[in-house]
Amino acid sequence: MRTISLQTPGKSPEQLNVYKANLHTHSTTSDGKFSPQEMIDKYSAAGYDVLSLTDHGKHNDLSLYDHRGMTLIPGMELHPDGPRGIRWHILALNITRDIPEGIPEADAQSVIDMINRVGGYPVVAHPYWCGFTSAEVMSLKNVPAIEVSNSSCRYIGREFNMQLWDETLDAGKNYCALSVDDAHRPRDLFRNWTMLCAKSNSVSDLADALKAGNYYATQGPEFTRIHFDGTAFEAEFTPCTTAILMSRRSTGRLTMVPDFEGPGTTQVVTSMKVDVSDFPRDTYFRCQIADEDGRMAWSRPFRFPAEEEK
Ligand SMILES: [Zn+2]
Ligand SMILES: [Zn+2]
Repeated sequence: MRTISLQTPGKSPEQLNVYKANLHTHSTTSDGKFSPQEMIDKYSAAGYDVLSLTDHGKHNDLSLYDHRGMTLIPGMELHPDGPRGIRWHILALNITRDIPEGIPEADAQSVIDMINRVGGYPVVAHPYWCGFTSAEVMSLKNVPAIEVSNSSCRYIGREFNMQLWDETLDAGKNYCALSVDDAHRPRDLFRNWTMLCAKSNSVSDLADALKAGNYYATQGPEFTRIHFDGTAFEAEFTPCTTAILMSRRSTGRLTMVPDFEGPGTTQVVTSMKVDVSDFPRDTYFRCQIADEDGRMAWSRPFRFPAEEEK
């Protein structure tokens, strides 16, 4: 079992289990190529611990399937009307049957409020693929997370949402970020996933991990330690060639860039420690690492304690 040590300011470090999750999956219940059981079989065989079937406007009756040892989190993808005639794609995780099926006739904010009311976790899915601006995303209230990467969006060159994410963080939002496959067909599988850091793999502990922001997004690299005590940021991770503490404008701190000093100078790093006491007090920072194949991983964003209380 993988574990991770997490720390946020004012709290002791906590050692938690890590569960590999794909939280955005389609099946033949909507427009996916594989049946729900086939999707469960594929993700279980690939070593995943957690799967959420999130069909467009459709619930799945999870009692009908063999879970193959995984935890299945009930979910759906909802499509309320958005600005400029674009529909939102809102991922609704850990929801109940109280969420109506079909295309919601309510506006996006009412849909998000409804997801929160049933104890669910709303996520703005693939905003770049949809064509939304960061200002449009930020107009939605009580949204805790967006997708930073989405496998099925890479075929039109819109897999990543880092620029939009940084714009929202710089404007004061605190979105955490999921990586997902948004799996519809074979080419989407096993490229982007989310690591949930929780006490156990029960649905309630995993839902608590989402709400606490105890997770990170990845395409391969794995964190084993993410600590921020209020003055220093520390991370440990599997071998990478780039580790960046990303922050406002270009105040991010680099640990290593391949060939930065010329050919043959690439170094592998497995940790970073940055004294952030001289960072602007109102900035955010987040850790982004990449391995030698260019596969990335993203921590949650952090802020200085006094700024978080605002
Ligand atoms: Zn979508
Ligand atoms: Zn989708």
